Amino acid sequence: MEFDTILRGGRIAGREHELLDIGVHDGRIKAISPPDIITPDAARDVAIDGRLLIPGLVETHIHLDKSCISDRCTCHTGTLQEAIASVAAAKLGFTEDDIVARGRRTLEKAIVQGTTRMRAQVEIDPRIGLKGFRAVNRLKRDYAFAVDLEICVFPQEGLLNDPGCDQLLVEACEAGADLIGGCPYTDSDPHGQIGRIFELAERYDIDIDFHLDFDLDPTWMHLDEVCRQTGAHRWGGRVAIGHVTKLSALDPASLAAVGRRLADVGVAVTVLPSTDLFLMGRDFDHSVPRGVTPAHRLLDHGVICSLATNNVLNPFTPFGDGSLIRIANLYANIAQAGRPEELRACLDMVTTLPARLMNLTDYGIAIGNPADIVVLDCSSREAAVAELSQPLLALKRGRLSFSRPLATINWPAG
Ligand SMILES: [Zn+2]
Repeated sequence: MEFDTILRGGRIAGREHELLDIGVHDGRIKAISPPDIITPDAARDVAIDGRLLIPGLVETHIHLDKSCISDRCTCHTGTLQEAIASVAAAKLGFTEDDIVARGRRTLEKAIVQGTTRMRAQVEIDPRIGLKGFRAVNRLKRDYAFAVDLEICVFPQEGLLNDPGCDQLLVEACEAGADLIGGCPYTDSDPHGQIGRIFELAERYDIDIDFHLDFDLDPTWMHLDEVCRQTGAHRWGGRVAIGHVTKLSALDPASLAAVGRRLADVGVAVTVLPSTDLFLMGRDFDHSVPRGVTPAHRLLDHGVICSLATNNVLNPFTPFGDGSLIRIANLYANIAQAGRPEELRACLDMVTTLPARLMNLTDYGIAIGNPADIVVLDCSSREAAVAELSQPLLALKRGRLSFSRPLATINWPAG
């Protein structure tokens, strides 16, 4: 058999006990076998030296359109309300080229951190119009060599309270938006918005990804209405909800009940640790609650959970390097998830589980799948999270999309 690339002696995540060679041809994985059975006739022959191979990191929730604007915003309280208002003001000055330029910065960071699949959340409203949508579509096309990007359009500043917004969302769906989102907590009629988003999802046969329940008051939740509508529309497996920080304020029995309900109805959860930590609990001046939903506990009830980046360098999150390994480590640290099986679950929540959340059917290091393979500088899944292991290179559909050299220590002579 002929190969374009052979990766020799790697450990595939989930079967790290054995060293395997992977043969790639025509953008796909054509062979996986014990070392040296694949003969050396490939154009590129790469020694992996026992390092971990993953099918790329999967980012389910990132805002490319409003990234890298910390220098345009002045914030004082650090609350969610201030972040929304401050970005709404900055957004008035966005142009399509400006969004593309900032999006490039963020996307390139994510690529060199090993991300190969991505769901971008893009704001639609009568002020920004379809500028963000067009800009992120350009990014989707320009960076297709490294990342499969899908676009979720959503009304960040409300839908039913914002005349003209609905028409623009419809236009974006007509123009090929991959899915639709909502943000009921900013709407004057949250249940009305949830209903309308389901209506549009049905009309265009697309999945849904809500920003939801983004505070620490567990006495009421929009989650109830989302679960109800998911059941009523038979949209199970096609709905995700992001943040859901209210769940961090529940006792274990109540959390378990919500977890079972989410799993039964088929609603997935994305936790955004960096943003949630930064914005929640601002009314405390000491012993500030973490405000991060314990996703790894929801996994026990069969909920599909992902950990994601959300914002990069803006009032929602004035940090960010695009690294999902760092986000997994941050989550593990604040969720006190340090046992090997918990660390492995954290890696699952930036790889296989978000792939399921996004209903990707061709993800994974397996014969016949696209050759999307990222080499991490470690030899186990738990080490990847615990040690923030660096991605060294990525193949995207068999082509090298980035690489970085290993660091070397320069000892003094003698
Ligand atoms: Zn978001």
